[in-house]
Amino acid sequence: MRYAIFGDVHANLEALEAVLDKMSRDKPDKYICIGDLIGYGANPCECIDKIRALNPIVVAGNHDYAAVGLLNIDFFNSYAFKAIEWTRLQLNAQYIKFLQQTKLLYKGDNITAVHSSPYSPEMFEYIENNFDVQLALNEMKTSVCFVGHSHIPMSFSMTRGVVSFSSEPYVQVGKGNKVIINVGSVGQPRDENPNASYAIYEVEEGMVWIKRVEYDIEKAARKIIDAGLPDVLAERIKYGR
Ligand code: ZN
Repeated sequence: MRYAIFGDVHANLEALEAVLDKMSRDKPDKYICIGDLIGYGANPCECIDKIRALNPIVVAGNHDYAAVGLLNIDFFNSYAFKAIEWTRLQLNAQYIKFLQQTKLLYKGDNITAVHSSPYSPEMFEYIENNFDVQLALNEMKTSVCFVGHSHIPMSFSMTRGVVSFSSEPYVQVGKGNKVIINVGSVGQPRDENPNASYAIYEVEEGMVWIKRVEYDIEKAARKIIDAGLPDVLAERIKYGR
């Protein structure tokens, strides 16, 4: 069984198309979208359509819920706030219903998937320190949990009570160890590598690979500016910040 896991697309159609092209060549049996399909970028409806066409497992992100009135945006920074207001104007009833019906947590036989953290998905907290990692690991019933939210590809695990963090592009899963894997972001990477990010999980081999994909960043940036979205959102995708 081979899964392709991706998220934080953030309405970046150019990045999504490049990732879909590369992922399809990995021939996954199932796709998992880890949330934040929209917000920030210029093509929310097109991105939702392309993702739904994969018949994936989908969990919702904070931007998805914010755009459809399920999350208060008073605490969003001004750029995210403006982008959500703009995005709301693009979504018709069909898109709104889809996002409102998307759950926050997926618990499969061998995979947990959630945008932020499995211990309180509705709080949209970041997994940042040892304490967060322990809480998340305690909550997991599977050996692997895929997350997004920080837009930084990374893995977290605990061996004999010691939490470890890794940014290696491959991760061993199973062997009695629980691992949390952040698959990075398709549409707005923040690890100073502007290339889109996704993961492949080979269940039988117990291996996860994080892969990066070049895409037409200039085109995506131009569309953000042409749409009247904040300029900074076009700038940051060029630097992966
Ligand atoms: Zn995000």
